[in-house]
Amino acid sequence: MAEIQYANCPKCSSSNIKKVGYTWWGGIIGPALLTHVKCQDCRTTFNGKTGKSNRNAIIIYSFIIYPIGFGVIAFVIFLLISVRR
Ligand SMILES: [Zn+2]
Repeated sequence: MAEIQYANCPKCSSSNIKKVGYTWWGGIIGPALLTHVKCQDCRTTFNGKTGKSNRNAIIIYSFIIYPIGFGVIAFVIFLLISVRR
């Protein structure tokens, strides 16, 4: 399997970059969608494709995903309550 080359760290220009598998804001889908990577030297996280911060993308992602997530949870709870009756 070929190693994917990520952009160097925007903060310390290290090339010791690893993919982030899981984040609190995006679970496992978010970081995969945004090519979220982490510098192993200074622990900065950024977009491995562009070499820029993912902060704005994370905010947009959260605004889209969280309402959907809460909607799904509310719907499942609603279903569970209706089934019991
Ligand atoms: Zn760094």
